[in-house]
Amino acid sequence: MSGYKLVCPHCNSRMRIRTSDGKHIFLRLCYMACINEACGWSVKAQFEMTHEMSPSGMPRQGVILPKATLPMRREAMRSAAETNDQPDLLEAIEDTQP
Ligand SMILES: [Zn+2]
Repeated sequence: MSGYKLVCPHCNSRMRIRTSDGKHIFLRLCYMACINEACGWSVKAQFEMTHEMSPSGMPRQGVILPKATLPMRREAMRSAAETNDQPDLLEAIEDTQP
């Protein structure tokens, strides 16, 4: 499975998600820090679910997002082709739960 690559824009090291906080069913706030001790850059970030690429097999009432547009689907196909072994962003966020 391909994952989301979290890279420090200053030094290109990997970023670690330190804490995360669910603000809304579609929005999660988190604090990220560069793992490079010499850099140490840390930021507030957010992860937001924005568009439905494919409907759920177990739809829940009230969980409604706009459907992905054709250009979004094309982009998803492109990024799926660029498979890599970086850790998955969602798994990284789950790891920070108490
Ligand atoms: Zn850095």
